[in-house]
Amino acid sequence: MRKAGLLDQKPMTATRRMLETAKNDTGTVKYAQFTYSPSRKYTEYESRYYFRAAPSALQGILEVDLFTRKDLAEGRKEPRFRIFLDYENKDFISWNAVEEKWSSAKIDMLDTGDGRYAYSYRGRNYAAETARKLVNRHLGTGNAQDVETAVLAFQLKVRKKELKGRHRLVTDMIDAYMDTVPDRLPADWMRFLNRRALEDGHCILYKKGTGTGWCTCCRLHVRVPDTVRHNMTGKCTCGSRITYKSWKKQKCIAYDTRASVIQKCTDGQTFAYRQFHVRMKAEREKEYVPEITVFHEEYRLLFEISDTKGPLTGRGGYEWGYFRNTGVERWCKEGTVNRGYGYGYSVYAKTTLYTSNLKKILKGTKLQYVPVSDIIKSTDKRLNVTAVLGDMGTGFPYEAYWKMGLKRFVRERAERDGTTGLTHINVNARKPWQRLGVTKEDMMQAARLDATDQQMRIIQRAAGLGVKLDDEQILWLDRNVGVNVLMNYFPTHTPHRIIRYMKEKAGIPDAGQAGKEALHLWTDYLDTAQQLGWDMGDRSVFFPQDIKRAHDEAVNVFTLQKDKEDALKMKNKDLIMHGYAREIKKAFRYRNSRFMIKVPGCYMDFKREGHKQHNCVATYYEKVLDCRCIILFIRRREAPKKPFCTVEIRNDGGNFRIIQNRTEYNRDAPREAQEFMQAAVMAAQRITDGILKEEKTQVRIKTAV
Ligand SMILES: [Zn+2]
Repeated sequence: MRKAGLLDQKPMTATRRMLETAKNDTGTVKYAQFTYSPSRKYTEYESRYYFRAAPSALQGILEVDLFTRKDLAEGRKEPRFRIFLDYENKDFISWNAVEEKWSSAKIDMLDTGDGRYAYSYRGRNYAAETARKLVNRHLGTGNAQDVETAVLAFQLKVRKKELKGRHRLVTDMIDAYMDTVPDRLPADWMRFLNRRALEDGHCILYKKGTGTGWCTCCRLHVRVPDTVRHNMTGKCTCGSRITYKSWKKQKCIAYDTRASVIQKCTDGQTFAYRQFHVRMKAEREKEYVPEITVFHEEYRLLFEISDTKGPLTGRGGYEWGYFRNTGVERWCKEGTVNRGYGYGYSVYAKTTLYTSNLKKILKGTKLQYVPVSDIIKSTDKRLNVTAVLGDMGTGFPYEAYWKMGLKRFVRERAERDGTTGLTHINVNARKPWQRLGVTKEDMMQAARLDATDQQMRIIQRAAGLGVKLDDEQILWLDRNVGVNVLMNYFPTHTPHRIIRYMKEKAGIPDAGQAGKEALHLWTDYLDTAQQLGWDMGDRSVFFPQDIKRAHDEAVNVFTLQKDKEDALKMKNKDLIMHGYAREIKKAFRYRNSRFMIKVPGCYMDFKREGHKQHNCVATYYEKVLDCRCIILFIRRREAPKKPFCTVEIRNDGGNFRIIQNRTEYNRDAPREAQEFMQAAVMAAQRITDGILKEEKTQVRIKTAV
């Protein structure tokens, strides 16, 4: 808004009436009651803001001046803000008269400096009747509104229009896409919602002893057996899954769900996945006649089904909601809806998909022979529809497996959002059974069993090991142990023997939890036995008489052997450490009347010192081995065996440096011990320098010869 000329006129000043009213508004002391804290005192005033209004000298502009109660009560006559409202060009701007700057904020966001939360107001702003009428007339806000409300309403409208214009490019594009989505839903859509989408919410309401009940699905009175209980599940004669609900115990039934439909767009090649939020309610007061209380489209995904292998592509997702800050409800790009608590959320959800139109609309696409509708109808779970549809075009042979009778296997994949489960799939193999890594016979067996993913994995593992399982064995493994490492031993000891042992010795499944523990012990034992190099082909090793005893014994042997190995390793290291210690001793042989130096020569020396001194010197063992430092122990001459101080020395290119010198519990060494160590280092330095010189001389002599 143009600012030029707006401030040429002087601001309005408070009338005498305003000053008086504000002065008389001395407030009432009130107490706020809180549940968990003491009541708090506050003052309630009659009015917070006082307004004056007048047309500006400039064409089409109304000036509204805002005064605060506080200012007026203190005798200030000047307004806090001068609000200029351009009612012809629909625009506004405010002048902060205190800070002398412009503000484009709406009236509710102006900083009026009266500590909004320190007081309370009865809510009535003060304005003369004439001012109120003037404002409402110019802003076109009716005539009953309070000045602040009228100004805010006008300003909100201006903002909305501005934002709409600013986002025009985005919204126009979205609208163009949305226009291609068919308006109409299938003719039997409501029937679909009732029979399929809302199925898990349906109930039969019964009165005890009458033998009849009311089904919310078929809306008929049906026979109810005497044996039914509240919350028992069953099936109505209409075919719907239902839950029995006692008339007495259930006042209201509410069920919330998501349903979807896929339609072809008017452009002839794009598909629209449309997601609806549906809520059904049935109340006792209304004789449990179900009503759909919420029904709206909340999400759309526009996609194409390409001819080549690959997932769905397209224009992405759209959500219905408030577009950014415009306050306008419309289709928005997924994740940009303003839900009051932020952006970035999507309402895309698992849904029950309408299937009757799928065959027709998928005709001519690469999915035309995939029994999409049969697969979806075979589950009573809601599906991640677009993920499953995408997966159907990426190489997993839905059609072939379905036709061969692997229905459960296929259905579980759909229920897993079209992802691979336990069974490994080799998408590059040609034949359907080759993709599973099994023989054709194995696959026929799986079809006969209508195998689950886990059962298929068991068959696959056995096939990989060159073992054949019979139906009973597959079902037993599936039910009781799943895909277990013990299968690795099938080729050696036969599935028959291994399963028999699990039944007889581990007590599976009759022993319950104890059986599971026994199985765990056994596999643990076998693992240990294998590491010990025992003969796993030997039946007396593999099938121990007493699992627990065999386990404990094996673990004992293992621990002993490991300790032995560790000790051997340490022995070799100590040999090196011993050699180092000898060299160090040559330099650090200094002693005085009170102290002497001990050089640790093996791991046990480090460990004992660390333990007695309560420090971590033992961890320096490896460091010394790597020549990264030297560790010395200071001892009192009167008690040479008793630890006193522990010292770390660094050797920087032939120069010794004390890094730490500490007594027990990592406390600093006593002063005498520190002085002793300094002298010792100096002595050591002299000795090594001497040795070096000697060596040099020797080298010189050698070269001379
Ligand atoms: Zn029914």
